Amino acid sequence: QAKAAGRNAICFFRPGMQAEADKRLDMEKDLRLAIARDQLKLFFQAQIDENGEVCGAEGLLRWEHPQYGLIAPDRFIPVAEETGLILPIGEWVLQTACEYITKWSKGELSQSLSHIAVNVSPWQFRQPDFPLQVEKILARTGTDPRRLGLELTEGVVIDNVADTADKMASFKAIGVKISIDDFGTGYSSLSYLKKLPLDILKIDRSFIEEVTVDESNAAIVGTIIAMADHLGLEVIAEGVETQEQLEFLYNSGCKRYQGYFFSKPLPVEQFELFVSDSIRRRLSNCES
Ligand code: C2E
Ligand code: MG
Ligand code: MG
Ligand code: MG
Repeated sequence: QAKAAGRNAICFFRPGMQAEADKRLDMEKDLRLAIARDQLKLFFQAQIDENGEVCGAEGLLRWEHPQYGLIAPDRFIPVAEETGLILPIGEWVLQTACEYITKWSKGELSQSLSHIAVNVSPWQFRQPDFPLQVEKILARTGTDPRRLGLELTEGVVIDNVADTADKMASFKAIGVKISIDDFGTGYSSLSYLKKLPLDILKIDRSFIEEVTVDESNAAIVGTIIAMADHLGLEVIAEGVETQEQLEFLYNSGCKRYQGYFFSKPLPVEQFELFVSDSIRRRLSNCES
């Protein structure tokens, strides 16, 4: 008993903990059913190029819970990872993204949405048959692989460089683009950057946040951009929220942006409207 263990003993139980554990179990149970019950939604956030035009998007997962409403991925992805549910969920994300990519590749949004990326969990990426699974989904949905991107975090890369390099090479061979997400927050050495067949570095939002007020963040961002340039990698700045941040990035040579300044992640219908509106605005600007 905790009490008998004395005052200074670590307390393994506090009121509320059982409730938390129960909630987690509930979540796990609900999450198991979420796919079948059609409660997972893929939102899309636009990526913008140096001319202010939409050039792609990132798919971001949401869970529409009948009781709790819209749940953000940070709240349920960890549970999905612990329980293995991330595998079917990750497959659903890929399948769903590819269905939209195919749809958009045919219509008026085709040029603006030439590249759609999804997030891949470390465990998902570590599956030996992951590249094969992606190829199957591409084939099944009739998706042009060059339109699909996969976002990985630095942790995935350093965890097993040889396996990562092999898998990346097989994606490179079919034209699927690889991004390193949240770049700059991991503990990776920079030497892997030149060893791996990467395409894009996404500068983490935490650096962008204070880029106009904190000189060291400005220096870090400038260095990442210069380094990416030398290595022939594209850079995308995450979490661009203000005009000042945008100007700093533009002047530092970063030509792709994602953030609330342009748009939040949107449900598909709204996202499609956002993109077609931005195409229309561009056309009317050309005429005037
Ligand atoms: P991430 O891939 O780094 O995605 C960027 C996150 O930043 C998104 O949060 C996005 O809504 C948010 N964001 C974008 N622009 C701004 C901005 O200007 N300001 C601020 N404050 N935030 C901004 P979200 O959608 O909550 O996703 C959080 C994380 O969950 C993602 O980070 C990603 O790691 C993970 N995630 C999302 N979808 C999936 C998925 O399908 N599979 C896996 N494995 N992970 C996912
Ligand atoms: Mg991402
Ligand atoms: Mg990120
Ligand atoms: Mg993140």
